[in-house]
Amino acid sequence: MIPPRYFIKEFGKPESPIVLTGIQDGVEKGWIDAKSLVRSEYQDFWYSPLELVGKEPTPGMRFACPQCKKMTLSRKIDMGNPIRCACGHEMTVPDPARRQASEMARTAALAGKGRMKFGIIVMVFGIVSSVASYMAGYHHFMLVYGPIGAGAVLTYSGWQMSRSRK
Ligand SMILES: [Zn+2]
Repeated sequence: MIPPRYFIKEFGKPESPIVLTGIQDGVEKGWIDAKSLVRSEYQDFWYSPLELVGKEPTPGMRFACPQCKKMTLSRKIDMGNPIRCACGHEMTVPDPARRQASEMARTAALAGKGRMKFGIIVMVFGIVSSVASYMAGYHHFMLVYGPIGAGAVLTYSGWQMSRSRK
């Protein structure tokens, strides 16, 4: 697997591409200081080059390999990077916060769909009641506004919720 390309943002300089060995070398020789920030091409957040090369402690995290289900230990600063499990499966280091957010969005989307279905049922009930009132022999067509309105509101808000998924 090809190691990811990195970017470095040094104080007062524009961000520039760099290879991992270049960061290791720069930290070792002192031309990369603690005020610099780095990220890989797969990441949208910056962190210390000292943490990247292991000169400073960095928080770790565990997650299960989707193929062999074994727990893998990784660093939080490796989120988004591709890694290979001992079983050979290639995967991306997950972002626990982002995964939780997408899980919540999915739940909201499902709840929204349920509400939408219920809204349609209520609305249909309102329309059927209106038609039934006509069929029952009333002289005028009685629109049952309550259920039609409530059904429409439910359907619309359910539709909005179901679209909340990012
Ligand atoms: Zn595995």
